[in-house]
Parts: sequence; C-alpha cells; structure tokens
Amino acid sequence: MTDGAGRVIRVLSLYDDVMNVYADRGNTLAVQRGAAALGLEADVLRVSLGEALPEAVNLVLIGGGQDREQRRIADELAAHGPRLREWAAEGVAMLAVCGGFQLFGRWYRDTAGRTLPGAGVFDVTSVAGGAGQPRCIGDVLVDSTLEGVGEVVGFENHGGRTYLGPAAQPFARVLYGSGNNGADGTEGAVHREAIGTYLHGSVLPKNPRLLRHLLAAAARHAGIEALPSVEGADGLMARAAERAHRAAVLVARRRGRPVAR
Ligand code: GLN
Repeated sequence: MTDGAGRVIRVLSLYDDVMNVYADRGNTLAVQRGAAALGLEADVLRVSLGEALPEAVNLVLIGGGQDREQRRIADELAAHGPRLREWAAEGVAMLAVCGGFQLFGRWYRDTAGRTLPGAGVFDVTSVAGGAGQPRCIGDVLVDSTLEGVGEVVGFENHGGRTYLGPAAQPFARVLYGSGNNGADGTEGAVHREAIGTYLHGSVLPKNPRLLRHLLAAAARHAGIEALPSVEGADGLMARAAERAHRAAVLVARRRGRPVAR
C-alpha cells in the first residue's frame, strides 16, 4: 500500500484502552510528535474490542497488559492474525510491547495455565513463570540488532518468559536486565519491519533512534522515501531527547542487573 498523497502515515493503535500498562500509549504520542518533527502527519486510528481493522495501515502499535487484560483481547486479536501477518509480510512497521508482544507471537500460556492464542506475527512462544520464578522487573538496557538503533533503554515487568522459534530474530541482546527469559540473553523479536519488545518506558520517547527507525519504515511503506533530518526547534527537541536517552542509560547501568558474561 502506498500513499503518495502528501506525507501522511496511517497509524493503528490497537486496544490502547485495554493494553496500556506503564502508559505504553505514550508510544503513540511519541510517533505523532516524531512524525511532525520529520514533516510527516501521523493519522492515528484507534481500534479496540468489537471494532474492525482498517483496510490499510503503515504502522501498528500495541502496548502491554496483565494476564486479565490479555484474556480479554486474545481471541479477537488472534482472529485478526491473518491480516496482521499479511501486513507484516508487506513491510508494515509494527511495535508490540510486553503483553502485546506475547500475543503477537504464536501463543501465551498465562498464570492460570490457559493457552491464549496469538496473532502469529512473530515465531515466538511465551509461558508465565512458574511458582518459583520471580517476575522480571527492573531497568533494562539492550543493544539492538537493528542498524542505526544502538542501545535501547526501558523498564520491564513481566512474569512470562518468551522463547524464539527458528524463524524469529531477536530485537536486541541484553546488557542489563532480563529480556525475553533471563537466560538466553535475547530481548524481543524482529520480523521484517515488525518489532516486539518487553521494554516499557514508554520505550519510544526514551529512544529517539528507535522512534526514527519505526517512522522511516512506516514512511517507506507509505511511499514516502526521503526523511529529512530534524532541524531548528525540532533539532533542539531531538537533542533534548538524546540527552534524556543518555541519562536513562546511565540509570539503567547503575540500577539494572548486568548480564553475566
Ligand atoms: N501479563 C504478561 C506477563 O506478566 C505481560 C505483562 C505486561 O505487559 N507488563 O508476562
């Protein structure tokens, strides 16, 4: 799908009235602000329970939620799976956070032992931690596998452990914190332009290079090739965002649990 008419990117905010733990809706605000700084207009459509998906989008966002919220949306989200997988295959940009990431995988077995179906965008499976397994909570610093994104900082709070299948690529390597499962050193997953991650924060305001990566992917899918560098007041904002990012990284290095090498 391309949208040559103007510099509009169509953004779908999925279930943001249900899946919004740790204010992940801030990612939508960051997309709107970041798009404006790049001379783009982010046309945001919010879709929740009982509502149909639009015909075409350039960027999909979904936040995190506790098991109770995940049970509310899982069956309907899984029914949207074919369309979401089709969009991912054609290069639609996506960001799925924590509980949303788990349900963009194949399935999530929750704390009650229920297996919630996933949308199947990522070849990952997730299982709630057992009785003796503590939740993964704390500051996280990861090194992204995506070119130009670099270190990504955020906060995690999940009981579920996620495991990559053969077709899944990790979004990042963990430097501080737990990441997917606290054992294999991976964080999140990537499939084409879809990114799954456990990082709350919200993650996009804290990581301007990740935000730009997603906006560039969404713009490409909308047929908008050249993105300007941010200038003027927006350059000031970008520099402030970089300073905030660096400050958050120092906090994560100080407070986060380093990964044993
Ligand atoms: N309920 C899921 C878990 O505990 C996801 C939590 C979240 O989105 N913060 O792993």
